[in-house]
Amino acid sequence: MSEALEEKVRDGEGAATGTRGACAPQISQSLEELNWIPRPKILALRRLGIESVEDLLTHFPRRHEDRTEFPRFPREESDVAVCLCGEVIQTSLRRFGGWKKIFEATLQESQANALSEPLVCRWFNLHYVQKMIATGQRIVVFGKPRLRGKRICMDHPEFEVIENDEEISIHFRRITPIYPATEGLSQRVLRSMVYRLLNEVADHSFETLLPRALMNGDMTRAAAVHAIHFPESWEERDAAREHLVLSEFFAMQMLIASRRTDASIRTGQAHCGSGALLDKFLESLPFELTGAQRKVIAEIRRDLAAGHPMNRLLQGDVGSGKTVVAIAAMLLAVEGGYQAALMAPTQILAEQHYDVLRRWLEPLGVRVALRTAARQEESGPLPLFNLVSGGEGVPGSTGCQPVVSGSLPDTRARPTSERVDESRYSRRNLPHFERPWGKYAITLSTRNHRQLSDKARDIVLESILRWKDRRYELYAVCVMPDHVHVLIEPMIERDADSGNPVFFSLSKILHSIKSFTATRINKIENQSDPVWETESFDRLIRSESDLQEKFHYITRNPWDAGIVDRGKDYRWVWYPGSYKAEEFAAGCREQQAGSLCSPDAMRSARDEPQIIVGTHALLYESVSFSNLGLAVIDEQHKFGVAQRARLTAREPAPDVLVMTATPIPRTLTMTIYGDLDVSTIDEMPRNRGKIVTAVRDTTKLGEALSFLRTQLERGRQLYVIYPLIDETEKLDAKAAATEYELWRERLHPFRCELVHGRIPPPEKQQIMERFRRGETNALISTTVLEVGVDVPNASVMLIENAERFGLAQLHQLRGRIGRGEHKSYCILLTSSQAKDASEKLGVLEKTSNGFEVAEADWELRGPGDLLGTAQSGLPALKIGNLKTDAHLMRRARTAAISIFQADPRLESPENQRFRRLIVEKHGRTFSNVS
Ligand code: ADP
Ligand code: MG
Repeated sequence: MSEALEEKVRDGEGAATGTRGACAPQISQSLEELNWIPRPKILALRRLGIESVEDLLTHFPRRHEDRTEFPRFPREESDVAVCLCGEVIQTSLRRFGGWKKIFEATLQESQANALSEPLVCRWFNLHYVQKMIATGQRIVVFGKPRLRGKRICMDHPEFEVIENDEEISIHFRRITPIYPATEGLSQRVLRSMVYRLLNEVADHSFETLLPRALMNGDMTRAAAVHAIHFPESWEERDAAREHLVLSEFFAMQMLIASRRTDASIRTGQAHCGSGALLDKFLESLPFELTGAQRKVIAEIRRDLAAGHPMNRLLQGDVGSGKTVVAIAAMLLAVEGGYQAALMAPTQILAEQHYDVLRRWLEPLGVRVALRTAARQEESGPLPLFNLVSGGEGVPGSTGCQPVVSGSLPDTRARPTSERVDESRYSRRNLPHFERPWGKYAITLSTRNHRQLSDKARDIVLESILRWKDRRYELYAVCVMPDHVHVLIEPMIERDADSGNPVFFSLSKILHSIKSFTATRINKIENQSDPVWETESFDRLIRSESDLQEKFHYITRNPWDAGIVDRGKDYRWVWYPGSYKAEEFAAGCREQQAGSLCSPDAMRSARDEPQIIVGTHALLYESVSFSNLGLAVIDEQHKFGVAQRARLTAREPAPDVLVMTATPIPRTLTMTIYGDLDVSTIDEMPRNRGKIVTAVRDTTKLGEALSFLRTQLERGRQLYVIYPLIDETEKLDAKAAATEYELWRERLHPFRCELVHGRIPPPEKQQIMERFRRGETNALISTTVLEVGVDVPNASVMLIENAERFGLAQLHQLRGRIGRGEHKSYCILLTSSQAKDASEKLGVLEKTSNGFEVAEADWELRGPGDLLGTAQSGLPALKIGNLKTDAHLMRRARTAAISIFQADPRLESPENQRFRRLIVEKHGRTFSNVS
């Protein structure tokens, strides 16, 4: 379609034949500086994230067309798209269905003979196409030929008009690149620009950054870049692509390998006791560990005993017994004299873990505490979740004022001299909706363009940095004389009763920044005028390229706006890795440290819990541990590298064990979790009954019901699960209630109970307890059941509208049954006739192995965001494909790992060239490679 958007504007097209500049362009140079690309094209390129010469040359074709020789026009239809060239012999515009229009262009092939069929190209409702195509022109089209009546037609083909013979050598008579394009930037323009740049940029400015082991022959990066755009043959194109994919993967794996190495050469502490306590625990268990559990515990134990911090992923299917392994690890740490923390993604799961841990560990004399927003038990208060801005204090909070981590200034708690007028800042102009894990680009403006002095700008930057990593992740800040740009991602504040995380709200964050800075600025300037405008302009970042664009905009703003000269410094720009960032942040941290309450002062070590269970929010509470030796993170995909880094950045670093019940395909493990060592529990406890899964149409509900009843009569228990009807919990609760009434009738006289997210936790716990004791026969539930529920006698599950769930989630749900010795049954009800739905559900009928489900899921869906690529903190791929290029990823990984093994600090001369892959490319320094 992008072809069709081609404007008649010809600027930029003469590019290929333009005169050469005096000196060859540099690869890092911005396209603007080249002086031959018109402004509108520069802007269009920017929309594609292309700013520099290198960006454009690495804007790789999404496919190529063989235009060396065009085939004869087809006489039959085909499913394969073909590329044809012909002359327009007739055009027409017809109306149909009232206002709709069809534009048709009839093409004739060159050297047409008596047998030739004309080709009819058709476009529906695209009025501009008719302005671009005229009789007598030669055009190239790409699409699938279809038989329509007696005519061969192509509907909505991509097309390109052959304008003049001079540039035929670029656009035709060759294997021609087709690019991802955008409005205002046609294929032809893009292609011409790339062509010209390739001619002008000196070959030696492309640095080949592949180790020998990955080189295929002696293709250089320069040759590969040339060939990916304008290949002489398909073989050459393939070789070039392989080179570039390997380079990309290699750079990524070098980054990952450096993270790994960074962790492994850091000095940490050994956190491992003798194992006597662990043995006592294992003896008390009513079952034997599986071989896989024993193997994995041994791996973890080795890491705990080692002097460097552990960074390990524990993978294992639902029900494979990860909790026991986690407990074993924590006991080893406790025995070694350290605290251990277990963090769960939701409150329900945290409570579940807490109950399990208490049951098993209290008899051994281990002190376990639960820390969540809603519940605090055992050993008294910790200043954990001070919802300062929310107003509710933590029940039983100590006399120690929590001016500590994470709290934006609390206007109520501050002395009156610093009190600010809150009402001044309206919250009206903030987004109507905020997204979990949303990133925002925000501009705060000063009132009446009030100019911020140097000192005032210091205050603003410092204040914004002050809450970095406490309330939000910060990607960039720029304090201009009369406005401020920030790029932020609010962090988790706490968990709601529903178990979902609640994020710091953008309005609260901004409000606090504004009021805090306003007070301080007015104080030093002895003024009382308002500092900030009431509005803030904000934008949700919707894509990686959007993020990049905003990032560049913000970090370059002072230079682009001309308030500082190029090459000069502007000290109020901050981004992760900016040279003064660390210094500045450290300064802020110190300031705050002064006001911290020392945890030791609050309680004596003797009463301190040895194991703390909580939600991921525990992570943001650095003061709550006096002696953290091991953090176990029970993960859903949301826990990213950044959060992990926060843990490992502590001094001294604790050991970290991440547990996931969502197996992911191997290739993704190599990237997303590439910096972790992986332990896998690949064996189920032996006592498990088989699970039979069946997909049934809703019309078969009657049959399913009678089956369920026979199971209930045999004493089994049942889960009925249905999807959220709506995102809002209110509706969810209502739907649940209606469903519940229905099910009570259907299953009469068996006893049903209802659970959903709106039922208060204590009540929910009672319902679960009754079910566990067998007093209730069936549980009608939303997906709150997904996590952690463990009732061995419940061996039947019916899932309504199963097609609405993802495969991974269905697999998780199904993991609730098959936990006892009974044969278990999972019925997936669906009303969807769609092929992809039945294909999806069919996977579950075939296998109950989580890894196989994950692979199939990936096949069907492709690596979506769900798999957490966004959280992996790795650069987006420009050419490689994680799925189809898996074999190249493996090679790149092996090469990167062996380089770091031989030379962990990249000190040897031949490795110098690789340093910039890690340091410069990703704007981040690592302590081992700096
Ligand atoms: P996961 O967290 O991996 O989904 P859990 O740790 O919750 O699995 O274990 C599921 C159930 O299996 C629990 O009731 C646990 O007590 C039990 N279990 C764990 N290991 C074994 C084993 N080796 N043999 C029998 N049962 C086990
Ligand atoms: Mg579990």
